[in-house]
Amino acid sequence: MSTTAHVKTREIVKDARGLRAIWRYVLHRIVVHSDTITYGAQCLACEWTVQRSDDAAMHQACMRHTGRQPDHTAFWTYCRAMAYVQPATQGERR
Ligand SMILES: [Zn+2]
Repeated sequence: MSTTAHVKTREIVKDARGLRAIWRYVLHRIVVHSDTITYGAQCLACEWTVQRSDDAAMHQACMRHTGRQPDHTAFWTYCRAMAYVQPATQGERR
């Protein structure tokens, strides 16, 4: 998964006046590291939380939690992963 955008970027250049900072718009991309995707949930009624590597397993865990605590039916859910930003001219990291 990759998204690109032109980003205002500060660069240090050396010229006849010495070192100075300039700003340029440089195309960058953000790449989500798919191996790090984690799905999580937190019960709104108690401190119960769960993290799984796929959303179906996380949803199953939420339903098991509700089975044990019938009045615990609402959850915050999230999906998170490590992502990194780099100039689009660079090759992708592995
Ligand atoms: Zn709960």
